[in-house]
Amino acid sequence: MKILFLFWFFSFKSIQLKAQQNIYPTYAGNDLGLTYSKSASGFRIWAPTASKVRLHLYQQPLGGEALTTIELKKSIQGTWTTTLTGDRAGIFYTFSAEYNGQWLNEVPDPYAKAVGTNGKRAMIVDLVKTNPDGWAGDKSPKLKSPTDAVIYELHVRDASIDASSGITNKGKFIGLAETGTKNQAGQSTGLDHLVQLGVTHIHLLPFFDYNSNDETETKKPQYNWGYDPLNYNAPEGSYATNAADGAVRIKEMKQLVQAFHKKGLAVVMDVVYNHTGLTEQSNFNQLVPGYYYRKTEAGKYSDATACGNETASEKAMMRKFIIESVLYWVKEYHIDGFRFDLMGVHDIETMNMISAALQKIKPGILIYGEGWTAGASTLPENKRALKKYAAQLNNIAVFSDDLRDGIKGSVFEVAERGFASGDTSKAESIRFGIVAATQHPQVDYKKVNYSKAPYVNSPGSVISYAECHDNNTLWDKLAISTPGTTVAERTNMHKLALSIVLTSQGISFLHAGTEFLRSKKDVENSYNKPDSINAIDWNLKTINNDVFNYVQQLISLRKEHPAFRMQTAVQIQRNLSFLPSPRGIIGYRLNGSALNDIWKDIQVWFNGNATDQTLPPEWTAGYKTAVLNNEFVATASGGQQVIKGYSCIILYRD
Ligand code: CA
Repeated sequence: MKILFLFWFFSFKSIQLKAQQNIYPTYAGNDLGLTYSKSASGFRIWAPTASKVRLHLYQQPLGGEALTTIELKKSIQGTWTTTLTGDRAGIFYTFSAEYNGQWLNEVPDPYAKAVGTNGKRAMIVDLVKTNPDGWAGDKSPKLKSPTDAVIYELHVRDASIDASSGITNKGKFIGLAETGTKNQAGQSTGLDHLVQLGVTHIHLLPFFDYNSNDETETKKPQYNWGYDPLNYNAPEGSYATNAADGAVRIKEMKQLVQAFHKKGLAVVMDVVYNHTGLTEQSNFNQLVPGYYYRKTEAGKYSDATACGNETASEKAMMRKFIIESVLYWVKEYHIDGFRFDLMGVHDIETMNMISAALQKIKPGILIYGEGWTAGASTLPENKRALKKYAAQLNNIAVFSDDLRDGIKGSVFEVAERGFASGDTSKAESIRFGIVAATQHPQVDYKKVNYSKAPYVNSPGSVISYAECHDNNTLWDKLAISTPGTTVAERTNMHKLALSIVLTSQGISFLHAGTEFLRSKKDVENSYNKPDSINAIDWNLKTINNDVFNYVQQLISLRKEHPAFRMQTAVQIQRNLSFLPSPRGIIGYRLNGSALNDIWKDIQVWFNGNATDQTLPPEWTAGYKTAVLNNEFVATASGGQQVIKGYSCIILYRD
């Protein structure tokens, strides 16, 4: 019996192994990459296709001969290991793998936490030494409901590179951590401005180590958004005061997080796991050629990102990589949220695993992404984390391009107008946005611009916005699409657009500078354009101070009134009702008393027409106008409520 049992056991094992041959063994441990202590540095690399793996040690981040080269030992589940004794912090290292009899390029491992100049070599790092003073006491602001978030999307360099910022460390992490900075008129800029504006979450464009800027050229102005990942787990060098020292990058990024947290601001990281900046030369491909990517039947890289490749989140070790990476950023850097670039490239199952893992270590963490791809993918459509499948995503929000383009017209058709710029036929897309893409009996989904059905079950699953870093800024789009209008008219359109964003249910999202009419000089795609296009001109805050005050007051209104931040679709169905309204006007009531709001009853009206309109007194009698500023509210005359062209009014009863 015993012998028979053993025989059965071994044949079962061999069947298992055969099944795994095509997909490689996966490594179950959590010590991939460097494990550092003062007495030893251990390395474990997953390279199941390699016949040999070598570790190369260097004194410097670029150039010079290797101090030594060490052959790794084959270990379990496709991994290779070695250990260096002693305190090796500050030593640079790379790996190379022998594959099909050929040695591939030296690269840092994908898990590298510290890298030197241009991310070519990893660095052994003592992470404890990268903690700024007081780091142990650093606390993230609490977020009760995702709909309480008002997100502000900002690029590290844009924030400070212009002279008008008054910031000393221009273009750097620590520049954005400076306080007391002012523009030429003495108004606050940078971090102080963000606090004054009242937003809750600062979403930073990619700040992991990306490929495009040459970090040896510290004096030469260089610009990129950073959507070309090189080393996912290390900060970008061009934002550090010394790109050569991996520890400086880490410390300065932590200083920025700490400075934000001290002011009560949460930090959202823009992550781009959907592709790598390099393809054949990427760290992934030099260690395990082909594994981490999707390929077509013809053997070509599938390219749903339009960047030359797409990663394969459904494969065990790619999935594990993403999950461990986001957890690392939360644990080591105290990151409070993630924005997934082209989230539709990832599979739903992986996104839900990411969400569950993050919620476990940081309940209430904010996760959202672009529910689309930029091209065809080999991943079956019904597995993609697309907007249309948003209801299957747990605690993950998607951007509402329906609302974005309903407000201002399609981002792809520059001449097209939206509701806020006079195309009142887009009213239903605005109503769809007002109810945060949930099911509501008064929305006619057939008339919505893109989605013909609600796609989320909860308002916390949708990002309401009019503008982000992509495409023309809202201010530029309005100018391009409304020839013949005056600056004053377009200013009203701009305010109306942001009124819709900040009063809609869902999560509010603002592009940096929109609060004072930021322009990119009509440049539609500024990803690699110079500072003259991308930098934030802080003097605009003074020039367009009325708009700044207006947006500041809208944010304050949103934060003071829970009626604008309902947490469930049922609450919206019960407490938000659209009012009958003439063409080009949208009006709705909020039942404040059912929502613990100090205003018992609220009316919100938007006029997308160029001309002033009068609301019948029977609708508005007995309501007060919310005094935000004089530009904002129309005054009642002869018992009639006038709503000016391209404007919003808010009425209430207490
Ligand atoms: Ca870089």
